[in-house]
Amino acid sequence: MEIRYHDVVIVGAGLAGLRAAVELSGEYDVAVLSKLHPLRSHSGAAQGGISAALGNAGEDSPLWHAYDTIKGSDYLADQYAVQVMCNDAPRAIIEMEHLGVPFSRIEDGRIAQRPFGGHTRNFGEAPVRRTCYAADRTGHVCLHTLYEQSVRRNVRFYDEFQVLDLCMAGDAVNGVVAMELKSSELVTFHARAVMFATGGYGKAWKTTSNAFANTGDGLGIAMRNGIALQDMEFVQFHPTGLYQLGILITEAARGEGGILRNGSGERFMERYAPSIKDLAPRDIVSRSIYSELSEGRGAGPLKDHVLLDLTALTHEKIVDKLPEIESFAKIYLGVDPAIAPIPVLPTCHYAMGGIPTDVNGRVLGSAAGNEVQGFWAAGEVACVSVHGANRLGSNSLLDLIVFGRRAGKDIAGFLKKNVQPLPLDAGVRERARSEMAAFSGRRQGESVAEVRAMLQAVMMDKVSVFRNEDGLREAVRRLGELRERAAAVRVEDTTRNFNTEQLEALELQHMVNYSMAVAAAALERRESRGAHSRDDYPRRDDERHLKHSLAVLDADGKVSILEKAVDLSLAATDSRFVPRERTY
Ligand SMILES: Cc1cc2nc3c(=O)[nH]c(=O)nc-3n(C[C@H](O)[C@H](O)[C@H](O)COP(=O)(O)OP(=O)(O)OC[C@H]3O[C@@H](n4cnc5c(N)ncnc54)[C@H](O)[C@@H]3O)c2cc1C
Repeated sequence: MEIRYHDVVIVGAGLAGLRAAVELSGEYDVAVLSKLHPLRSHSGAAQGGISAALGNAGEDSPLWHAYDTIKGSDYLADQYAVQVMCNDAPRAIIEMEHLGVPFSRIEDGRIAQRPFGGHTRNFGEAPVRRTCYAADRTGHVCLHTLYEQSVRRNVRFYDEFQVLDLCMAGDAVNGVVAMELKSSELVTFHARAVMFATGGYGKAWKTTSNAFANTGDGLGIAMRNGIALQDMEFVQFHPTGLYQLGILITEAARGEGGILRNGSGERFMERYAPSIKDLAPRDIVSRSIYSELSEGRGAGPLKDHVLLDLTALTHEKIVDKLPEIESFAKIYLGVDPAIAPIPVLPTCHYAMGGIPTDVNGRVLGSAAGNEVQGFWAAGEVACVSVHGANRLGSNSLLDLIVFGRRAGKDIAGFLKKNVQPLPLDAGVRERARSEMAAFSGRRQGESVAEVRAMLQAVMMDKVSVFRNEDGLREAVRRLGELRERAAAVRVEDTTRNFNTEQLEALELQHMVNYSMAVAAAALERRESRGAHSRDDYPRRDDERHLKHSLAVLDADGKVSILEKAVDLSLAATDSRFVPRERTY
């Protein structure tokens, strides 16, 4: 097997990975591995914007931003990490502007800002314009800018290389094993530092805004190497996915004046969040939609969706501020949003949990919270815990560029100490080789698509917006069975170039493992908090559950759930940050 050496190997070419690469390039030999072409990374799909208290469109402050983020998280976010992110946000945006991001502008030339759900002025008084944007293509322009900067700085890209495993030297990480998709050849990447920026895992649900590639490989790989995953039960359903498709209609549509209506045309969010209505955080809006449906107030002949009404906006405004969603509505549903409302339903969107890190991206993956030497993570795969139980819209892109940069800086500091690469253990390469060989040419068993569809159905039915004890127990049981069935799927295609059947079989193994972590952690959390809503425990229970969960994969394939304290450092000196009932 070929072995390549780089000082740093970053897995993932979305915004988190590329921001770290830009930070490290020039000084160190940096490789970025991506299973997709970097510009196909899912960051490019981000539409509505990126938050920062710039104050270009009305008074704002990082402290207000931190307050909203912590309240939005239902008080599960680590408060110091939130403070780091919100304080750094204005600088991070100006830096992105200087790197070349073509943000939309207000008339005096400063960066334009729009309202987004849960972002308020003066500790909850009224919505604030905090989200910077480039029409509704913010992720697209940020990704192109960072890619151009990375190419310019000679970052070495390995496109269409699928990482299969971590190389471990004892408890430390010193490389990855990857498969080149065009040849199915395995390559070991030996490195002094490894960073995961492999994105989210929405593909484990049937209806999702996520791309086909968002199979959460990074989580599965970390888990199988003994690294605990944090807060996996918190999975965000975005309120406005296109009906029956799940394709996202950005929250910016409501920020620009869009209104949610039920089947009778009523603006129902006035009842659920009287002060900020349609701009309530996503967990609240998604639950409100399902409440409307369950009480028979849905729209359409089946009363099974609600409507996003943009008809009060002019055609010009829609084309200027929301061009992507205008075309999505027309192409996929044949609806012109300037004339008719768009049928929508919540769609699985974002993972609040992931690989635990500190604010410098260092992985703290052991159950005892010890650092995993040589290993960093940032972006949606990571859980630095700035989103807690529910992320506010436009805080993810911010998380990527703030913590991607910090991870890059921290890796540079580590490398400066002249740390030598730890010797490679050949065992990991053999594990990858034998796993591939086990699938290759197996003609018996179910297809990958069959098992994956069952997994997605279980997650959608039992581990969705509303959950309960019986459903979660059944999910854990069925996922246990699916884990065995996934290990036995057939892979009839024996070709070596772009063998997607083999690839999907490998991805499926990760999907069953982290889905078990989601279901098991949701079962253990007998309360409702943020995106985790239990019919049988409808209240938040701070006494018992103001704690992070840690999911550990045991040797027998079962998942154990441990606990970790939440950082409440702001609350210690400022009573406004003390957990309280969350109303809007
Ligand atoms: C439709 C949509 C709209 C959104 N809009 C917004 C918004 O307006 N504002 C906001 O703040 N957030 C938004 N989000 C959320 C945000 O876009 C994502 O959380 C974020 O882009 C994730 O970035 P990332 O860098 O962590 O990962 P990604 O951009 O998903 O990149 C993951 C990378 O990892 C690579 N990878 C994965 N597995 C492997 C493997 N096994 N081997 C090699 N490479 C691998 C992929 O190839 C890819 O390069 C949106 C999300 C969606 C789905």
